[in-house]
Amino acid sequence: MSPLNPKIIRSHRRSLALTIAPDATLTIRAPWWISLGAIKRFTRRHRDWIEKRLTVLKSRPLAPVHRYVAGEAFWYLGEKYKLNFAAIGGTVKLNQSAKKLILPAGGPRLSKKKIIAWYKKEARRIIGARLDHLAAISGYHYRSWRLTSAGTRWGSCSSSGNLNFTWRLIMLPPALIDYVINHELAHLRHPNHSRAFWQEVARRDPDYLARRTWLKKIAAPFIYKAPELIFPARYDTLIVVNNTN
Ligand SMILES: [Zn+2]
Repeated sequence: MSPLNPKIIRSHRRSLALTIAPDATLTIRAPWWISLGAIKRFTRRHRDWIEKRLTVLKSRPLAPVHRYVAGEAFWYLGEKYKLNFAAIGGTVKLNQSAKKLILPAGGPRLSKKKIIAWYKKEARRIIGARLDHLAAISGYHYRSWRLTSAGTRWGSCSSSGNLNFTWRLIMLPPALIDYVINHELAHLRHPNHSRAFWQEVARRDPDYLARRTWLKKIAAPFIYKAPELIFPARYDTLIVVNNTN
C-alpha cells in the first residue's frame, strides 16, 4: 500500500480515532498533546486494520453517477427503471410493466429535483404504511417518525421513541425496507446492538441475518460517486483510548 497520508484533526479529545470514510479517505482525530511521530506510529501499527478495510472498499462497485438523461437507470423498490421523458408536462410517473420512470421534459437540474421529490413522496407513503403495519403486528409503540435525507444511515431511533428513515430506502427491495424498519422498531426496546437486541429482531424477523447480509451487499454499489443519491455507508472507526505511545 502507498504511504498512508491521513488527514489529522486535533481537538480536546483524549483518544486517537482513525476513520475510513466510504470514499477511502483516512482521518485521524487526535488530542492536541500527541506528537506527529506518535500519530504516524499509531497509523503504522494499525496498518492491517486499514488495509483490510481499504480492500473491502475497493472491491465494491461504483455507484452510477446520474446525469438525468433518457435511458438512465433509477432504482425503485429494488427494481431498475429507465428514465424517459414525456413530451408534455405533468407529474412523475412510473410505468411498472415497461419498467420506465417517466418525467416531464426538462433539464438535468429540474429532473433531479423532480426525481428526488418523487422518491420522497413514495418513501413517505410506503415507509409510513410498512411502519404502521410492522409496529401493529409486533406491538411496538413509537411516538412519531420522520423522513430524512441521511446519506450515512438507513434509519435511527431516538431515546424518546422517535424514528427516522432516509428516503433513500425507497430504492431498496421491500424485504430490506422491512428489515430496516424492524431493526429500528427493536431499538425502542433495546437502544443498542446487544444480544438482547438481536434476539428481539430475530423474534420479529426470523430471516434477519440473511437480510442484513443482503443489505450490506446490495447497498454498497450505491454508495460512491453519486453525491446526489448517496446510499448510507458505514464509516469504519478504530478508537484507541488513551493511547500515549
Ligand atoms: Zn441499530
